[in-house]
Amino acid sequence: MTVHHTKMLILGSGPAGLSAAIYGARAGLSPIVVQGIQPGGQLMTTTDVENYPGFADVIQGPWLMEQMQKQAEHVGTRMITDIVTGVDLSRRPFRLTGDSGDVYEGETLVIATGAQAKWLGLPSEQELAGRGVSACATCDGFFYRGRKVVVIGGGNTAVEEALYLTNHSPDVTLIHRRDSLRAEKILQERLFANPRISVLWNKTVERFVAGGEPAGLVGVDLKDTVTGEISHVAADGAFVAIGHQPATQLFAGHLPLDSDGYLAVETGSTRTVVPGVFACGDVMDKVYRQAVTAAGTGCMAALDAERFLAEAEFAASRAA
Ligand SMILES: Cc1cc2nc3c(=O)[nH]c(=O)nc-3n(C[C@H](O)[C@H](O)[C@H](O)COP(=O)(O)OP(=O)(O)OC[C@H]3O[C@@H](n4cnc5c(N)ncnc54)[C@H](O)[C@@H]3O)c2cc1C
Repeated sequence: MTVHHTKMLILGSGPAGLSAAIYGARAGLSPIVVQGIQPGGQLMTTTDVENYPGFADVIQGPWLMEQMQKQAEHVGTRMITDIVTGVDLSRRPFRLTGDSGDVYEGETLVIATGAQAKWLGLPSEQELAGRGVSACATCDGFFYRGRKVVVIGGGNTAVEEALYLTNHSPDVTLIHRRDSLRAEKILQERLFANPRISVLWNKTVERFVAGGEPAGLVGVDLKDTVTGEISHVAADGAFVAIGHQPATQLFAGHLPLDSDGYLAVETGSTRTVVPGVFACGDVMDKVYRQAVTAAGTGCMAALDAERFLAEAEFAASRAA
C-alpha cells in the first residue's frame, strides 16, 4: 500500500479534471489525477467533436483527451490509474482510498467524476452508438441537418432535446412510453406548439434498426405498450433522452447532493460545503453538460483551490 500526498488531489480525468490539473500544476500545486474507470472521460466514447473551441477542423474525442492529458502531464501533473472507493472528508488532508489499496491524501480535493447518460440497454443501441444513436442533441444534433430524427423520453431532458433538434431537423418525433409527459408544463406547451415536432404515445423502443453501407441507423422498431402492436418509424438519428446519472454515490453522506443527485456547490463557484473540497464538470452541472463548460469549471476549481490554500497558509502563519 502506497500513500500519495499532494496539495491538489483530482478525481476524474475528463475535461474538467484535466483542466483543473493544467491550472493546478501551473500554480505549483503538483496535482495528482486519479483517472477512474474511464480514463479521458466521456469523450473517449465518441468520434467527431465539432464544437470544442480552437479547432477549425472536426477532431476526434479520444484525440482531444489524449492532448489534454499530455498537456496536463507536461506542466507537472501525475496521472494514476486507480478508482477511488472510499472517502474521508472529516479533516484535512482529505484521505481517499483506491481500489488498488493505495491511499490518496489531498490538502485540497477536486471532484470531477462526471455524469453518465442513461441508456435503454438494448444491444442494438450499443451497436449503433455514434452511428445514428446518441444521448446528446447539443453534441450531435448538427450532424442531422435537414434529416429526420426521433427522441426517446418524456421528461424535461427529452422535451428540451426535441426542441433543440428543431434548429436542425424539420421532422422530429418524440417517442414516449406513457400517454402524458413528465416534463414541466411550460416545456410541454412549447413542444406542442412546435410544428416540426410530433409525438408518438405509448411506445417503447424494441430495436434500433441498422441499414446502408457503411451501416448506420435507418429507423426504430416500436412496441405499443397498450396493444402490443409492433411498428416501424424511419429515422436518420435517434436521441436517447432519459436522463443522466451523476457519479456521486461515493460522496453520499459526505457532501450534500441536490434532488437529482448532483453535487451541490455555492452559486458562482466550485466550493462545496466542506472547505477545501471543490466540484467541477458534469458532476455538478446538470444544465450544460458540455466538454467546454466542464473544462471551464475545472479551471475555476483549480483557481478556487489555489486561493483556498493561500488563505489557509496565510492564516496559519499569522496564528504562528
Ligand atoms: C457520446 C458522447 C458524445 C459527446 N460529444 C460531445 C461533444 O461533441 N462536445 C461536447 O462539448 N461535449 C460532448 N459530450 C459531453 C462531454 O463529453 C461531457 O460534458 C464531458 O466529458 C464532461 O466532462 P467531465 O470531466 O465533467 O466528466 P467525464 O468526461 O464524465 O469524466 C469523468 C471522469 O471521472 C472518473 N471517475 C468517475 N468515478 C471515479 C472514481 N470513483 N474514482 C476516480 N475517478 C472516477 C472517470 O473515470 C472519468 O475519467 C459528449 C458525451 C457523450 C457521452
